[in-house]
Amino acid sequence: MAAILLAWPLVHLAALLLVPAQAKPLSFAFLILAPLAAALACGLRARRRRNADGWIALALAMLLWASGMTVNMCADLLLADAGPITGLSILFYVLYGVPLTFLVASPARDPWPARLVDGLLAAALGWIFWVHTFTFATITDASAEGVLNLRLMFDIQNLFVLLFALVRHRASTDPQRRALFGTLALFAGAYLLVAGYINHFQMEADFGQLPDVLIGLPFLLLAWLALRPAPSSLERRRASSPRFSLLVHAGSPLMLPLTLLAVSGPLISRAPGLAVGGFIAALLGYGLRNILVQMRSFDERDRLTRLSRIDALTGLANRRQFDETLLAEWNRARRSGTPIALALIDIDHFKQLNDGLGHPVGDARLRSVAEALAATATRGGDLVARYGGEEFAAILPGIDANIAADLAERMRRDIAGLGLASPAPGGIVTVSIGLAALVPDAASEPAELLAMADSALYGAKRSGRNAVMQWQVEAPAIPAPGPRPLRGAA
Ligand code: GH3
Ligand code: MG
Ligand code: MG
Repeated sequence: MAAILLAWPLVHLAALLLVPAQAKPLSFAFLILAPLAAALACGLRARRRRNADGWIALALAMLLWASGMTVNMCADLLLADAGPITGLSILFYVLYGVPLTFLVASPARDPWPARLVDGLLAAALGWIFWVHTFTFATITDASAEGVLNLRLMFDIQNLFVLLFALVRHRASTDPQRRALFGTLALFAGAYLLVAGYINHFQMEADFGQLPDVLIGLPFLLLAWLALRPAPSSLERRRASSPRFSLLVHAGSPLMLPLTLLAVSGPLISRAPGLAVGGFIAALLGYGLRNILVQMRSFDERDRLTRLSRIDALTGLANRRQFDETLLAEWNRARRSGTPIALALIDIDHFKQLNDGLGHPVGDARLRSVAEALAATATRGGDLVARYGGEEFAAILPGIDANIAADLAERMRRDIAGLGLASPAPGGIVTVSIGLAALVPDAASEPAELLAMADSALYGAKRSGRNAVMQWQVEAPAIPAPGPRPLRGAA
């Protein structure tokens, strides 16, 4: 493929020199086929499914440019009076910039409705750019000053695409994205040079002459770059700084409305309606896309906040949410003078289960136990959390020690009742539960309740496991307060 692309300009040159009588049609054929080859290469690259949207935008731009040249060819070769359709070819060259502007200005990671707004803004920009073109030149005629202005506008468009492609290239964190913007920057640079040279120094040259060979070069370069198998080592290097990447990601959508404002401004005296339309589109478009992006950010923030409070394995509350809820419920109970109970639930001989049946089965058992616990503590304020490893905790606000003991006993019984196979003594998964319940006073802390429940759990383990043990706060001084056995199969 590289050989074909290398030979292409030589064949083009040879055709111009060897068949001068047919130089014009031959040259048109080369100038239409070169962007088509680039479009094909970008289309093939899009099929690799990495950054497909970007490569498709590039392919579309190439097709539009090839269409402009096709119109040029038809006008030149078939029509005696080419004037009326020159405007159509200029429209295609203007439209060629729309997908490229969209590509450099619209971050691929933004939600699709925001990208749709970007697409509409890019289309509005193309439309106003085109109208702008004909404030300098009528379709059939253009003054010398008008032609100069036209060339200047195309230079600015080309420079704009090049600069932003370079910025996006520097800011991209993904090597594939860097490859895309690196390709676009190289193409845009070559195109800027060639278009600048042709537009400013070969103004009088007609099609079918030697400078035509140059026009094809940027497209052949693009085709070659698009077909490269993998990002180069340069593109695999990390982006300059994460903050710069963030700034470019957040700031690039501003390019479209700003350019729209810049192009609409000079139209205010000749086409005031269109100019005002451009201002409004820029303002509303940018506002709307910001709302859409913000909505996604809020959504994402809420999702992450939810995730940061959930244990990934069991779906129960995690330790962070447990700590926060315990403190909140503790304070509420202290203010209202109501009791609060806490159960610590630990799976018996879990290490043996893991060693015997493997970690994945251990995980499955953890999920089953979590499900059973959550199904038991279902009142409004109850919270069952994974406290750590194979240990769970249930905050049971507003219930006294006796009701809490009944609930804990039900948990123990339900889990044993699941009959989950285990290599542990007894052959099934069982839990030990330590329970503490009290009415908090001003001087006490939630850590005390935790320590009591933990101590009671220790007692339950010592008593032989598969048991519920309760801390007795109101126990007489002698014997000293300590874990009191409730029921249990052990
Ligand atoms: P005891 O009856 O005294 O509680 O004994 P035990 O074996 O249950 O307690 P120990 O603390 O010795 O072992 C706990 C085991 O729990 C050790 C660890 O590998 C396992 N474990 C902790 N977190 C996970 C997990 O997320 N998945 C799995 N499969 N195992 C876990
Ligand atoms: Mg255990
Ligand atoms: Mg444990």
